[in-house]
Amino acid sequence: MSDRPAGISLTVKLPALIGVLLALAIAVYVYLADGTVRRSTLAAATLRLTSVTDQLAGSLRQSGSRLIASARQAADTAPVARYLAHPAAGARGAVAALLRPPGAAGRQIAAAEVFDARRATLLAVGDSGVRSATAAATSELLAALTSRDSGLVGRFLVVGDSVVYPVVAPRVSGGRILGYVAVWRYLSTTPESRRQTNQLIGAGARLYLGDASDNVWTDLDRPVAPPPVALTGSGGVLHYVRAGQDGGAMMAVARPVAGTPWLVLIEFPVATVLAPVDAFFRQSVIDGALILVLGVLIAWAASRRVTAPLARLTRTAEDLTGRTGGEEAEPGQGDEIGRLAAAFDSMVRHLREAQQALERRVESRTRELEDRNEELESFAYSISHDLRAPLRAMDGFSQILLEDYGERLDPTGRQYAERIQAAARRMDLLIRDLLAYSRMTRAEIRVAPVPLDHVIRNAVAQVEDDARDRGARIRVDDGLPSVLAHEPTLTQVVMNLVSNGLKFVPAERAPELRVRTEPRDGMVRIWIIDNGIGIAPEYHDRIFRVFERLHRQDEFPGTGIGLAIVRKGMERMGGAVGLDSEPGRGSSFWLELPAAEPAQR
Ligand code: ADP
Repeated sequence: MSDRPAGISLTVKLPALIGVLLALAIAVYVYLADGTVRRSTLAAATLRLTSVTDQLAGSLRQSGSRLIASARQAADTAPVARYLAHPAAGARGAVAALLRPPGAAGRQIAAAEVFDARRATLLAVGDSGVRSATAAATSELLAALTSRDSGLVGRFLVVGDSVVYPVVAPRVSGGRILGYVAVWRYLSTTPESRRQTNQLIGAGARLYLGDASDNVWTDLDRPVAPPPVALTGSGGVLHYVRAGQDGGAMMAVARPVAGTPWLVLIEFPVATVLAPVDAFFRQSVIDGALILVLGVLIAWAASRRVTAPLARLTRTAEDLTGRTGGEEAEPGQGDEIGRLAAAFDSMVRHLREAQQALERRVESRTRELEDRNEELESFAYSISHDLRAPLRAMDGFSQILLEDYGERLDPTGRQYAERIQAAARRMDLLIRDLLAYSRMTRAEIRVAPVPLDHVIRNAVAQVEDDARDRGARIRVDDGLPSVLAHEPTLTQVVMNLVSNGLKFVPAERAPELRVRTEPRDGMVRIWIIDNGIGIAPEYHDRIFRVFERLHRQDEFPGTGIGLAIVRKGMERMGGAVGLDSEPGRGSSFWLELPAAEPAQR
């Protein structure tokens, strides 16, 4: 016999179900959590991007002002003022050194020029290539200057692979412009400073400076392609995809630098911003998978605990019916529960059949026994009956012998004849009692309401002679109720008990009997109480059997059948009999029968 169910086992179904539910719950959780983390990370990045760009635009505005102030300062220095008044060749060296000092500061300057009031070049230093490339832009810028301006910062220009921008300042005296100083500066920073700036901003940020109208952009080192999106009017966050090696989806914020034509733009690669979110997602998926595995394992262990007793129960049920695993399991119900149900169904059928077979056997045996009993009883009855005729003959002839031939017999002969007669009478008594017992077992008995006072009066009347001989007193309570009984049988039963109550009293004591009743849960208990010799408790059951006697004939005569008749009679009427007694303290026999409404007589 196998313990494996025919269908899918609960040890598989349960963990699978819990696994699917857990997986669903984890997936929903990860999806929602990922969305929330993604949104808040992007919001934080946007905030950071905006504030950093604003700060940078502010500080660039300050640098622009500083550059204008320094150009103006240069224009107002004595050598430049003198040179503008008298552009003598001898003064050129001092002015040139002033505009483009030697050393690191000078290297930032691509070219510098001094113009007279009519914007004609008086002096030029620096890269001639830059100068020619920027000439048009310079004159345009100078034209824009008025005497009220302290100076201007111009647009970016690409020269070769460098980006330059101009700073111009007028030399003003008495409200009139006497000349101009123009300085073209390289827009370049060291890689180290760029790296530091980017690090400061964080999130893989890239910083660009540009010029919205000319679309010249630089990463503060060299010219770069403009951002692939229109910047005009966009105060918020820009989203675009940059091509190239460092490209990808970007989020950016652009701000104009006040006092200059420049724009500052900071962009974050979205991938870098969202890297922690992706890490969170990966970690959540790993954690979720671990929880899933753990959950399935726990469910598996739990379902094994559940299925083990189920399997035991099924085995027991199958053992009982001799049926093997899953034979009649319903399709789709072939797991442990289905198999258990099938085993129970089959067990119930099996038990029912066994019970029916047993009932049939008991019935047929009972019938057989009843038949035998009947045969035996009728046999005993006819034998007893037939035995009485020769006994009567013995009694009669020994009587005649004593009466007619008594004088011719010697005393021993007469004694023998008397003994024959006594034995014959005793035998007759025995047979009579046996016949009475036999009748009690065979007679048809129908119960009906019987008034107890009537029954007891009749029974007592039958022992009246005995009672008178013994000087006995019999007290019967008044107002006795009615019971459901067969009147002749109950009279016989009471008579036997009352007669015993008179008999088993020491000769020197006058018998005293009392008959009373008490109600008991729809029953009536009839007590017959004597003041006789009493009975030891160990004999309380035995005395009800046929021929059971506790005394010799010469002590108390009797056949040992009286109480057997009592018990049989009570049984046949659906009642019960019992007693309370101890040696030397009298006996209280009781009879119990169903109470009845008094019969109409
Ligand atoms: P019998 O009276 O003919 O001897 P019973 O069947 O009536 O037979 O009683 C069986 C035995 O139970 C009696 O022999 C006697 O020993 C005992 N017995 C019955 N009734 C009483 C009683 N009221 N008091 C004492 N002993 C009793």
